[in-house]
Amino acid sequence: MSRAVKLKNNVLQSGKTWMTLAYGSTRPPYSAARPHNGVDFIRDYTDEEAKRLGIAKSSEDIIIAADAGTVVEVQSRLAISKNPGNGILEFGNYVLIDHGGGLQTRYAHLAQNSVTVKVGDKVRKGQPIGTMGMTGKSNGVHLHFEVWKNRLRVDPMPYLIGTKDLVPKPAPAPKPPKSTVPASTSRKHTVIRGETLSAIAALYSTTVAILAAHNNIKDVNKISVGQVIKIPGASVPAAPAAKPALKPIDTIAREVIAGKWGNGADRTRRLTAAGYSATAVQARVNQLIGTK
Ligand SMILES: [Zn+2]
Repeated sequence: MSRAVKLKNNVLQSGKTWMTLAYGSTRPPYSAARPHNGVDFIRDYTDEEAKRLGIAKSSEDIIIAADAGTVVEVQSRLAISKNPGNGILEFGNYVLIDHGGGLQTRYAHLAQNSVTVKVGDKVRKGQPIGTMGMTGKSNGVHLHFEVWKNRLRVDPMPYLIGTKDLVPKPAPAPKPPKSTVPASTSRKHTVIRGETLSAIAALYSTTVAILAAHNNIKDVNKISVGQVIKIPGASVPAAPAAKPALKPIDTIAREVIAGKWGNGADRTRRLTAAGYSATAVQARVNQLIGTK
């Protein structure tokens, strides 16, 4: 019994394919102990037409690669044999294509000298590779097609009807990450007493060099109280990766005592913005200066 099958990934150039023997069939010469390990195809004649026309007519049918890959094995010179034997000769003339990812396809019983590809050739999906024949262990012109997954034969049909891929589909291009801060955003910082440019840079997760360049500051050690420092937008607030490592709490507490972090609500805001717990820093400050 044969049946017409609609394939997404064709193996015959005609695009119309009749499957004559399914994967796993135990019909003679196959058995439960050694079931059919591929699928057999003839061209789209009905059984009757095939009989009437003589199946040899279909030897004109061109076999195409089910998907893109590299030719890894070719046998092309065998003539039709009455006693093809077992093992590799069973296939007669054949082409084995590696699709990557552990998947290979084998096209067997090809006509003598019909193979048009050689080992190492890159083939594209649908590229002709040979002609249907009856070499090897074959009692009629047909294509015996196999799919190998990690060196084991599997049912080829899911790969041909397209529910499984022989060649993995390329992953969609990653979307550019959405910037949380528009590039045009900019902020201003008014210098308070005791503040250094490096402290301001740390506060906004930027660098002294960037701030100096952005504000046309010639001497980075000379900034004055009340001076307005423009903070470049692109780095406000910085991406997590750009965040500087936190300093030990004692260092911060001493900086607070030295007046580098300002006072009151402003100090709390700045400590929090820099990733410190204002409460914990204050507690340590109190310990250091002996306040209860
Ligand atoms: Zn077969």
